[in-house]
Amino acid sequence: MNAEIQRVVIVGGGTAGWLSACMLAARHPELSITLVEAPDIPTIGVGEGTWPTMRSTLASIGIDEAEFLACCDASYKQGSRFDGWVTGQTGDSYLHPFTPPPPCATDALVAAWATRNEASSLSYAAAMTAQAAVVARDLGPRQAAMPGYAGALNYAYHLDAGKFAALLMAHATGRLGVAHVATRVIDVVKTADGHLSALITDDHGAIPGDLFIDCSGLAAMLIGKHCGSGWVDRSDALFNDTALAVQVPVRPGSAIASATIATAHDAGWIWDIGLPMRRGIGCIYASRFMGEDAARKVLIDYVARNVPGADPAALNPRKIAFPTGHREHFWRGNCLAVGLSAGFIEPLEASAIVMIELSLQALCDNFPKSRASLPIHAERFNALFRYRWDRIVEFLKLHYLPSQRTEPYWLAQRDPTHVPPRLAALMALWRDQPPSQWDFPQAHEIFPAESHAYVLYGMGFSPPPFAGDDTDAQARLNEVTHRSRALAAALPTNRTLLQQACAEPALESQS
Ligand SMILES: Cc1cc2nc3c(=O)[nH]c(=O)nc-3n(C[C@H](O)[C@H](O)[C@H](O)COP(=O)(O)OP(=O)(O)OC[C@H]3O[C@@H](n4cnc5c(N)ncnc54)[C@H](O)[C@@H]3O)c2cc1C
Repeated sequence: MNAEIQRVVIVGGGTAGWLSACMLAARHPELSITLVEAPDIPTIGVGEGTWPTMRSTLASIGIDEAEFLACCDASYKQGSRFDGWVTGQTGDSYLHPFTPPPPCATDALVAAWATRNEASSLSYAAAMTAQAAVVARDLGPRQAAMPGYAGALNYAYHLDAGKFAALLMAHATGRLGVAHVATRVIDVVKTADGHLSALITDDHGAIPGDLFIDCSGLAAMLIGKHCGSGWVDRSDALFNDTALAVQVPVRPGSAIASATIATAHDAGWIWDIGLPMRRGIGCIYASRFMGEDAARKVLIDYVARNVPGADPAALNPRKIAFPTGHREHFWRGNCLAVGLSAGFIEPLEASAIVMIELSLQALCDNFPKSRASLPIHAERFNALFRYRWDRIVEFLKLHYLPSQRTEPYWLAQRDPTHVPPRLAALMALWRDQPPSQWDFPQAHEIFPAESHAYVLYGMGFSPPPFAGDDTDAQARLNEVTHRSRALAAALPTNRTLLQQACAEPALESQS
């Protein structure tokens, strides 16, 4: 039982597999790490929006920001803009920015904003952070002269998922000593106590290990098939189960949006992610409310309306069906699930890659030294990630609740029988007080109280009554106004900044 854990074997070479390899190898150089990947099973190839955690993740594994931006055709992301989620009418739009409101009592801040909003119609995000003014102008979050990964505002990235996995693979194998075996895993060998001891492969024999990480995507070939961890279905709360995805080339020099644009439609929403050379656009929908032909039309109409110069007739959308839910246990015995094998919920707010990063952080900080300590690590990991999946389900569901849309899909989203009970209770609480850290007590919440407030008040949820003194809050909001003007005048556009960061030849603006 006290045998040391030295050999880690990862199954899968998508974003989850290669991020796992890089993060573990960088943090635990004493380990022997092998990544096994089936050359004939493609990666999912989507997943283009990240969370700001990606900056510290990349820095921690030793990848330079300029190298990352250039290799992954990446751009700066400063949040998500939601169009059409409240009424579907023209002008229905709000922003969930990554930069939090100024430090001040939240109830006073919300009250100070409500007063200004009544007087002169000011959005919650624009009152709380200069990021709203910056995003509205397609500006970047930083100056080119700043050190890598530093910003004037909090930011993440949009990226090309295929190129990202390729960069991580080259980094893991070339600089971090990770072994790469291209073969399909067809079976496993187990010890008497049910732990995995080796993988049986198609043409590379047995690959032994002490700890196994399942990054095999939706196949979940270790955690589901061989370790028997059940599936927890969450489609009762979140109905979307299908995506139609396209990549649309853009005109050279055209503006690159600094936020993911999520546009609501009759039975779901459309993502629009701007990269330097193309836009990744996809229609997410619930198949029990919309057929494939109708979804295809929604997607094509969107491209025709929103991408100058695009030829909608040339689009050939790729269909991706996905389950909504997660594993009952993410860690069983000596096997952990990371990435799609652990679970997946519609990509609203880009919660999947950040869950990969958080899983690896938890593992790296608590790497089991011996087999004897596996049970306590597994128990803690399972409790923490069950908490996190529950919070993701609730936060995504929140985006549907204050809507006034009346299509059957939207009415069903608001049906109380489809609202998680904890979220229903919080919605009642937030009539009396704004979201606060008391509602989200973990040290590392994925979506903190500030994010909930951006969505709630962005969608027009009524601010609670306030009888206190908001003098300090008003002063803070004045500072935000000044900073908004200053940053809007000083920051370069997303595209200019990327050209400077990647030192690509300057392109004349044609937009
Ligand atoms: C429509 C859609 C949009 C998304 N958008 C976002 C987003 O904006 N932001 C975000 O954070 N996430 C997003 N995601 C999720 C994101 O794509 C995934 O979380 C991420 O790519 C990780 O995937 P993965 O590595 O777990 O699995 P995959 O990319 O599917 O990789 C699986 C790997 O396992 C290997 N494999 C499978 N079976 C075997 C076997 N038997 N033997 C050996 N190897 C095997 C395959 O060869 C492959 O290398 C999106 C997902 C979807 C479906």
